This record gives sequence, structure tokens and C-alpha cells, in this order.
Amino acid sequence: MEDLKQVYLDNNATTAVAPEVLEAMLPFFKESYGNPSSTYSFGSRIRDMIDEARARVAASLNAAPEEIVFTSCGTESDNTAISSALQAYPARRHIITTVVEHPAVLNFCRTLEPMGYTVTCLRVDSHGRLDLEAFRGALRDDTAIVSIMYANNETGVVFPIEEIGRIIKDRNTPGGKILFHTDAVQAVGKLPVDLKRLNLDMLSISGHKLHAPKGIGALYIRQGTPFYPYLIGGQQEDGRRSGTENTAYIAGLGKACELAARSLGEEAAYLGRLRDKLEAAILGTCPGAIVNGRTALRLPNTSSISFEYIDGEAILMLLDSCGIYAASGSACSSGSGKPSHVLEAMSVPTSAIHGSVRFSLSRYNDESDIDRLLGILPGIIKKLREISPLSGVSTGK
Ligand code: PLP
Repeated sequence: MEDLKQVYLDNNATTAVAPEVLEAMLPFFKESYGNPSSTYSFGSRIRDMIDEARARVAASLNAAPEEIVFTSCGTESDNTAISSALQAYPARRHIITTVVEHPAVLNFCRTLEPMGYTVTCLRVDSHGRLDLEAFRGALRDDTAIVSIMYANNETGVVFPIEEIGRIIKDRNTPGGKILFHTDAVQAVGKLPVDLKRLNLDMLSISGHKLHAPKGIGALYIRQGTPFYPYLIGGQQEDGRRSGTENTAYIAGLGKACELAARSLGEEAAYLGRLRDKLEAAILGTCPGAIVNGRTALRLPNTSSISFEYIDGEAILMLLDSCGIYAASGSACSSGSGKPSHVLEAMSVPTSAIHGSVRFSLSRYNDESDIDRLLGILPGIIKKLREISPLSGVSTGK
């Protein structure tokens, strides 16, 4: 059998660990295995290395090192941010988020409703964009926290975090600050994020989306923000996140943030070119294809495409058989058979929503990956349309 080159186009689900990141981690599995809380020098050396990683993460976001707390993942960071705000303002029982958030925010908010909290989930339009006037109108005197994602994992649509921050700031009174958190899991490493410019109180990061390993994340907490830890125990992370530090992974996240910050602009331009080529060719060769959120501001690496009258899972299976890996909807909900809540919120037509595929690129993709996809996908779409009982569109004339 022909040895096919594997083409990985699912980088919003997870990314390959960068070789430089692995190298930064290895000492912690070998000679530098001490516990950073130990007072002897074998431990305090490790503490210094953690602080170095913290400084790297902070620098990549234009934040101060003391504002970074390491966590186990993006989900923990999201849960912690919301839970902390609710503990900080026990009398306030209102939360604002959006219908297109990741389950790490949406499902956490759902667990709060039976406890007496009210959750406003802002809608998006068919391009995936928020209505800022509707947002302004949703703010209430008893709003404790606004949690709105920076960029969507399925479509790549970027929300106007700077403007949202400004609206919150204008609304705040000295005695009534509403906290603003963003899930920036898909944005960090792909877009410049400057925390000195943004009126954000908390921001979530996940390592495995930017070439660090799975199982490490961080939460930015602006200096002066009231904070209540989620995990309670020892004094690690200045008492803000208990549990012996995952030293190797922390070092890995520090390195990954440094690498991403170094090549952000170049990489975004490179990925944007590959993504645009992919979309133009698919729209030109596959009838009945819709690029979701195409006219909105989007991450440069993400393309969500719905193909009318076919099943996205069938497309993925046929791509898989050719060694090409992509996703249908978000990685966490794929396999459920339900249409994506994000595409539903964008009112993607029923005829197309089930035929949705997400391609997400990374620095390790190149032109030849796109060419291989483009050499195969139009044939797959044509074949599936021919056998689809629902097909009402032309089969490719
Ligand atoms: N938020 C967004 C936008 C994501 O895409 C993901 C992962 O897919 C998460 C949160 C959860 O991150 P983690 O897998 O690190 O828990």
C-alpha cells in the first residue's frame, strides 16, 4: 500500500508539541525533579525556573509575572474565573456570556442556574458576530461577571474584546465593578493579545493549543482583581492554585508562549495565505459550500465550511482514509451526532449544518498539505452528493 503523508488539519483541537518546547521540558523529568516548594537549593532552583516560565507567559501577553497563575488546562482556568467572581460578589447573581462559548464556560454556567444565578447568553448573527448594543443592554446592576470568548474554536470568529471592555468600564461605578473574563484559549499564540490595552480582569490560556502539551493552562488575573481560588490546599502559586506544580509542563508553556510571541505576525500572515488558498479553491470546486463567518474578523488559521446535502462525518471518514485529519464542529462535541451549537447559533441552514467540517492549520502545515487536501476533497464531495438522497444541488458541472 502507498505510504501516504499524514496531513493534520485539526490544530484547534490540539497541536503538536514543538521540539523546542519538549527540550525545555526534559530536564524536569531527569535531573531537575525537585519540588519547587522545598526550601533547599535543589527545590528553589526549580522555583526559579517556574518563575522564568511565568515571566515568559506574562511577556507574551504584556502582563506582569505576578498576574499569571498556572492551572491544569483551559477548562480549569475558565471555571476558576467565573467561580471566583461569584464568590467575590455574593450578592450579585447575574452572569453574561454568549451562546457560542466553549462548554468549559457554557456548561459551567448551566450548573449555576439551579443555584439561583441568571445567565444571559448573548446571541450572534449569521456571520457569528455579537450585537454590542444588545450587550450594553444586558448589563445589570447585579451582573458579577461577563465571560466572552476572544476567538471561537469552531469558526475562528474574533469578538471585539477591546470594545466590550470599554463598554464595561463606562458602565462601572466605583462601588460596582463588573469583572470581565475572556476565554482566550484559541486566540493566544494566533493573535497579538496586549493586556495593557484591554480592560480585562481575567483571561484563560491552554497550552495544547499553542504547541505545549495537554494538561497545562494559565489564568491571567489583573493586579487588584478580587480572587478566590478554585482548588484549595497548599500555598502553591501564592495560594491562588493549590497542588504541587506541574514543573515540566509549566516550563513547556513558558517556552511555547515565547516561541509564539516571537513569530506571531509572520505566522499569522503565513497561515492566512494557506487558509485563503484553501477556501478559494474549495469554493471554486465544490458547489454548495459555505464558509462560515467568512465576512467577520477571524483567526488566520481556521476555516469552517458547510457542504450542503452531505454528512460531515462521511467527509471526515473519507479524508481519514487518505491520511487527512480534520474535525466536524468542535473537537469536544464531535461524535455526538448533534449539529454544532455554534453553527446553529449562526443559523447555518439545516441543509448544510450536518455537512460541516473545520480545517485548522498550524505553523507545521505547508502548501503541500493544502494541495493534497485540494486534490482529494472535491472528488469526495462529488461522490457523496451523487449518493446523497437529499442532494438538490448540482454535482459539479
Ligand atoms: N476554550 C476553548 C475556546 C477551547 O477551544 C478549548 C478546547 O478545545 C477549551 C476552552 C478547553 O481547553 P482545555 O482542553 O485545555 O481544557
